[in-house]
Amino acid sequence: MRYATIRGIRGRLQKLMRAALATCCTGLLLVQSPPAQADAGFPAYDQQREQVLFGRAIATAKPVVPRATTRGTWQTASGRLLATSPEPGQDPLWFPSSQAANVADGLVRVRIDPGKKPDVTVLLRVQLDRGRLDGLSGYGVALEKETLRMYRWDRGIVRELGPAVRVKGVAKHRELEVVIYLLGPQLVALAFDGTSFKHLATLTAHDTTYPRGHLGVRTGPRTDGQTAVTLMSVMPLGAAPTGLIPRREHGLWLPPLPPGLAPNYLPQPPSDATPFGLQRYVYLQPQQVARLPADVRRRQIATISRRTGKPEALLHLSIKAYERLQRTGVPVAAVAGEVPFADLNQAYREHRSQPPQKTARGFRIDQSFKDAEMVEALVRGYHQRYPNISKLEEIGRSHQGRPLLALKISKHPERDEDEPVVLLNAAHHGSELLPVEYALDAMQRLLEGYGRDPQVTRWVDNLEIWCVPMVNPDGNHMYMEVSRYGGRKNGRDGDGNGTTDPFEGVDLNRNYPFGWGHGGEQGSRSWFTHKWYRGPAPASEPETQALVNLATRYPFAAVISFHTIGTAIFSPYMVFDTPEPTPDDAVTVAQEMAAAAPEQPNGKKYRSRPNGYPVSGSDQDWHRHRHGSLAYVVEGSHHNPADLTIRNQAVAATRPVWETLLNRVVSGIGISGHVRDHRGQPLQAVVQIEEVRLRANEVWTSRKYDGRFDRALAKPGRYTVRAEIPGCPPVSKQVRVVDKRVHVELVISTANCRAPAS
Ligand SMILES: [Zn+2]
Repeated sequence: MRYATIRGIRGRLQKLMRAALATCCTGLLLVQSPPAQADAGFPAYDQQREQVLFGRAIATAKPVVPRATTRGTWQTASGRLLATSPEPGQDPLWFPSSQAANVADGLVRVRIDPGKKPDVTVLLRVQLDRGRLDGLSGYGVALEKETLRMYRWDRGIVRELGPAVRVKGVAKHRELEVVIYLLGPQLVALAFDGTSFKHLATLTAHDTTYPRGHLGVRTGPRTDGQTAVTLMSVMPLGAAPTGLIPRREHGLWLPPLPPGLAPNYLPQPPSDATPFGLQRYVYLQPQQVARLPADVRRRQIATISRRTGKPEALLHLSIKAYERLQRTGVPVAAVAGEVPFADLNQAYREHRSQPPQKTARGFRIDQSFKDAEMVEALVRGYHQRYPNISKLEEIGRSHQGRPLLALKISKHPERDEDEPVVLLNAAHHGSELLPVEYALDAMQRLLEGYGRDPQVTRWVDNLEIWCVPMVNPDGNHMYMEVSRYGGRKNGRDGDGNGTTDPFEGVDLNRNYPFGWGHGGEQGSRSWFTHKWYRGPAPASEPETQALVNLATRYPFAAVISFHTIGTAIFSPYMVFDTPEPTPDDAVTVAQEMAAAAPEQPNGKKYRSRPNGYPVSGSDQDWHRHRHGSLAYVVEGSHHNPADLTIRNQAVAATRPVWETLLNRVVSGIGISGHVRDHRGQPLQAVVQIEEVRLRANEVWTSRKYDGRFDRALAKPGRYTVRAEIPGCPPVSKQVRVVDKRVHVELVISTANCRAPAS
């Protein structure tokens, strides 16, 4: 989607329409009080499209001093337009001799040095009676001492259009900028302080008398001769002389433009579009920084090399500060409303495209956040160093062709062992970088600690642990290298135009098949630009499919999906209105995990949050509903902290969360076992613990390949385990669970069944 095209015209038209609408309901006119966010109303100076009729918009430019039609004596020295000899009854008038000064609709900008007692009028859409200077008709926006007014002139007779607005302390402003919008019968004038661009006053009027005419300046009889105009510029919107036909551009019918005029206000290609939002990232040649005003210069945040290969200074500016920068005339290499993570994070810039740094037992993983290539290098590197306890699988490819890598960590990794299987994954949301570190930390600890740390050795000996540290590499790439507007979602090209813009993609944690789209627009969204877009169909995305397929091969006893930023452990079901099993072992284990972890670097402890907020189509709900997994979303404490000591503290303080889960699966309160037939062959049977009531039509079975099942329990007690396959009488066993895992073997004699077991 080419979002930039839309926003290019949107900003300007919104401003015009907002102003125009202010008059619509009361008919003739009204005075608008200043908007709350006054600065946002300042229209940015557009060097390409605004035509300077007098003076200089940029400090370093030569002033434009056109030939003019005048009455009275006007000085134009040093780019200041000044009427010096007011004569009684003969107000000085000045009209630039330029076709561009003849306008119908558009934006007019005038900068005024008010002096001590201003009496100056900007003349708009002025027509002269048979070319004579007396008897003019049109409109005027006048600054008279501390008052801003709007006038209508009819052959020299003046009428005020509505009440005036006071501009307090006008002489204290070294310069004022008056911006006037003309749109059909709507006239809007806004006054700003010329240095700070603080909004001072707004006038609006509605009048249909003069549809087009000339721009000019008048000085009134009360002037003390110190008031000067320093800039007059115009950005016309269709100055429509007769005899030209309308034309079509970018799918829009437009009024005719006079020859030679730039097509203002038209949709522009993205490279030329004005960024939106209230901040600007500006790239300059480094040697230009010294030429900037000190307060702008201070906003330099980095010197970086973009794809041009040459170093550039990057400044982070408010729109006001950017306006000041533009007025200096310093050439800008690029301007954007948002930048990729790479431009903001030096540690990442230094380490991307570098191979991981080797250590005695593995690699350094604590030197920066990582993109998909860095994660891939680490996963492959670790597999090469620990081939006896790891197995590498590409479980799929992203939309943009990036490999989805899974590393299995286990004592005999090539075998499907008789052990519970666990999944640790991160970056379903590619813009969340700290979660990747949690997963990589687990991978590192498990591999480097095996044979040295008895606890780690026990996990690796007794579990099969799959690590997928980068579920969404396309989103990660978007966030790291293209724009921080995007990256949460994957690389799906929502409108099929061949590129994935930052607002496109599917939220992978809304795309899983269970509860997909349930609750309508509450727990996910149906439109493709929304951050919770659920995708066109359940499991439509290659990343979702890769994990669904892996879980179908190896039903997980437990799953953690690492996210940020709630300092919380969410247990299933997140989807609206789906009841959990009772008693709920998943919540009990979440509480144990939360209690085991110390305070996180944000000063909070993990909280167990069942039913945190409505989410439909999440991975944890699907794992839980489909396989009975202890499936969690663990939301860490920070969103990509620039300070790497926070990364290290967060990683260390989150370790007890996943360690607790691994312990719980190996030996915690629960029942594990097998279902086999009378010949000892494994059976995929429905296994139910009768004291645990399932309330969402779950059908939890033993594993097809070895008949194994693993169930955690919320509390000790006596339990009845029942196994059943179609056509055979169910078998059950009673067990007493005290403080650890109890193992039971169930045998279904298939010899006497009505239908043959499959
Ligand atoms: Zn997330």
